[in-house]
Amino acid sequence: VNHHGLVVDPTTSRRLARIRQRDTSAEQLVRHQVHALGGRYRINNRDLPGSPDLANRAKGWAIFVHGCFWHAHLNCGRATVPKRNRKFWLDKFAANRARDRRVKATLRRLGFRVGVIWECEAEDAVRLSRVVSRFFTEAFTRP
Ligand SMILES: [Zn+2]
Repeated sequence: VNHHGLVVDPTTSRRLARIRQRDTSAEQLVRHQVHALGGRYRINNRDLPGSPDLANRAKGWAIFVHGCFWHAHLNCGRATVPKRNRKFWLDKFAANRARDRRVKATLRRLGFRVGVIWECEAEDAVRLSRVVSRFFTEAFTRP
């Protein structure tokens, strides 16, 4: 049973381990970029809806770094569906996307500015820097 509460076969399990590693490195790239722009944050904010990966409660912002696979990034080559138990995975991804929408709406109601950065964006340095600076300059003078 993995951390998403799924029982999977060994092949899928190895694949998921690789995906998890990639998620983690995307998070680190985002943290680095936010920090470089002067943003201060706490990570894995379990006291906030959806446990945003980075958040600053006082400044009122929260960022999620979404793995393209788990969060089913639309039109992204990494958002594949395992062939085994296809229906199960499609349901799982639909549920994940629905939860992402609910969490974002809840945080916004609480007054947070919410950003989502996809793993594939995080791994492209130019794209990441553009996405992060846009997130901070649109609503804030200082991150
Ligand atoms: Zn993607």
